[in-house]
Amino acid sequence: MTLSTTASQVLFDRAREVTPGGVNSPVRAFRGVGGVPRFIDSARGPWLTDVDGNRYVDLICSWGPMILGHAHPDVLASVTDAAAKGFSFGTPSENEVALAAEIVERVEPLEQVRLVSSGTEATMSALRLARGATGRSVVVKFAGCYHGHVDALLAQAGSGVATFALPDSAGVPASAAGETVVLPYNDLGAVEELFAVRGEEIAAVITEASPGNMGVVPPAPGFTEALRRITSAHGALLISDEVMTGFRCSRSGWYGLETGAEGAHPGGYPSGAPDLFTFGKVMGGGFPAAAFGGRADLMARLAPDGPVYQAGTLSGNPVATAAGLATLRACTDELYPRLLETARTIADAASDALSAEGVAHTVQWAGSMFSIFFRDEPVRSFADAQAQDTSAYGRFFHAMLEGGVHLPPSAFEAWFVSGALDAEALDVIRAALPAAAQAAA
Ligand code: PLP
Repeated sequence: MTLSTTASQVLFDRAREVTPGGVNSPVRAFRGVGGVPRFIDSARGPWLTDVDGNRYVDLICSWGPMILGHAHPDVLASVTDAAAKGFSFGTPSENEVALAAEIVERVEPLEQVRLVSSGTEATMSALRLARGATGRSVVVKFAGCYHGHVDALLAQAGSGVATFALPDSAGVPASAAGETVVLPYNDLGAVEELFAVRGEEIAAVITEASPGNMGVVPPAPGFTEALRRITSAHGALLISDEVMTGFRCSRSGWYGLETGAEGAHPGGYPSGAPDLFTFGKVMGGGFPAAAFGGRADLMARLAPDGPVYQAGTLSGNPVATAAGLATLRACTDELYPRLLETARTIADAASDALSAEGVAHTVQWAGSMFSIFFRDEPVRSFADAQAQDTSAYGRFFHAMLEGGVHLPPSAFEAWFVSGALDAEALDVIRAALPAAAQAAA
C-alpha cells in the first residue's frame, strides 16, 4: 500500500506558485531524491505527522536542532513563559546573558560570544571579524564544507549546493569569490602549498569542525591540528564552524571530542584552540538563534567597542534564547552516550540490511551524527562523497519514507538522532529497512 500524499501534493502545487521551487530552503524540495516533499503539520517527540495524517520517525531533526525531539516539555514551557512576557524588545534582556554564559562555559577557549539569528550570519560575521582583525582579505575554505549562503563561502559548498551539483552560486560577484580559495578537504599538502605562496594575504581558514554537509567526513587524525599550526605560523586566524556539530557531538561540540575532554579523539589542539567558533542549530532549540565567539581581545574589535560592525534587529530574541537555554540545559552528560547508542543501533541495523542485499556502503561518524555513503571505500573528501551511488540512496530513501521513516532527502547529509527516539520508533526503523535495502540493491 502506498502512503497517500494528496494533501502534500496540493500544498506543494500551491507553494510552487508563490515560492520558488515551492520551498524556503532548497534541499526541502526533494530534488536529490525525486517525489513530493511531505508538508508537516505537527511534530512530537521522535514523530513527524504530515498533512495527509502519515506519521514518520524523524531522522532529520530539522537538520540538527531538535536534539531532544519535538516539543520537549521543558523547552515548550520555557518558550511559552517567554512568549507570554513579550516577543521582542530590541533592548538587552536576561536570557541573552544566560545563553551566552552557558555557551562560554561549555566550550573552554571561548571568552565571549555574540548572538545572531542564523548560522549564515554567524559565519559571515566571523569572517568579517577575521578580516577586520588581520587587515587581510583572502579566506580559505574546503570543498564540500557548507557555511551558509554567505557570498564568499558558496564556492564548492556542500549541503543543498552539493545536492543540486552546483559548483558555485550565480549572483556571487567574481570579486567576492575571488577572495576565497577552495582546497580539497583533508589535504594538508594543498594547505601547505597555498600558505607557502600566499600566506601573508590570508585572513582566515574556515572549516566545519567535522564536516557534515557532504555527508559526515571527519578530519583525518592531525588535520585540524595542522591547520592550527600553519595558520598561527602565518598570522592567519582559524575559524571552527560548529553550527552543525556544536552541542550535538558532545556537551562542548566537536571541540570536546577533539580535545579529549569528552573522550573519543584525544589530542586535537595541542598547539592551541581555533581563534573563532560559530554555532547555531542545537543552541536555538528549533528557534532562530546562533552565535560566534572567541577570545575577548578579538571579540572586542566588534562594535560598539571596536571598528568591525555587526548588528541584528532580532539578535538575542527573548523567545529564541529561552528555547536555546532550555535545550542546552537539557543536553546533560547523560544525553550524549544515549544518543550515541541510539545512533549505533540504527546504523548497525541499516548496515546489516544493506549488507544482506549486497549493497555497497560505508558508515561514517562524528559523535552521534552519521552518514551512510552508498560506496565501498571510505570518504575523505567531497570528490569521494560525489563518487557514491546517489540513485541507490534515492531508492533507499523512498522505501524508508514509505515504511514510516523520514531520512534527509539527499545523499550528502548527516542523519540526526534525538533523545526522544524510543523503542517504538526504533522498531519502525528496523521494520522499514529490509524493503529499503532491497530497493537500493
Ligand atoms: N555552517 C554549517 C556547518 C551548517 O551546517 C549550516 C547549515 O546547515 C550553516 C553554517 C548555516 O546555518 P543556517 O542554515 O542557520 O544559516
